[in-house]
Amino acid sequence: MKRIAIYPGSFDPVTYGHIDVIERGLSVFDEIVALIAESRQKKSLFSTAEKKDMLKEIFKGQKRVQVDDWSKLLMDYASRKKAVAILRGLRAVSDFEYEFQMASMNKKLYPQIDTFFVMTSEQYHYVSSRLVREVGSLGGSLKDIVPPAVEQRVKEKFKLR
Ligand code: ADP
Repeated sequence: MKRIAIYPGSFDPVTYGHIDVIERGLSVFDEIVALIAESRQKKSLFSTAEKKDMLKEIFKGQKRVQVDDWSKLLMDYASRKKAVAILRGLRAVSDFEYEFQMASMNKKLYPQIDTFFVMTSEQYHYVSSRLVREVGSLGGSLKDIVPPAVEQRVKEKFKLR
């Protein structure tokens, strides 16, 4: 049986931090679904279609990574996919409280599906989509933080090309 993990996130936009989590997850799981979670609470810079395009482009040669989107309950998606795990990344202590609550709630909903965390790689510990949007909006370089094609898209969004 394939061991599928779901990696849910906003990916607004995808960064090298996210890519690193996926690549490391692939050493443990057979397949990872990068799941663009549509949230009503968070206003996104990129549309779901744009986020999907970027993720698909990055992982186009990697058959073990799928890209999908979902606006309903994450655990319903995970159960339908017969996933064995939810994959998440942890950067700072500040991530912990939110992740802990979410993992606990998800475990309550579906006790058979656990959340697995990978700790951020040293070089990406400060990388977040929020900072990418902020620095991008001010025209700063995003080299080594997001892939070149993503940087280009951010620039286009802010008309800085
Ligand atoms: P969300 O809005 O659900 O937090 P994000 O796209 O911001 O979505 O993040 C998805 C997951 O990836 C989260 O678990 C987050 O902690 C993790 N993550 C984001 N950036 C990094 C990074 N630089 N290193 C490790 N994990 C990260």
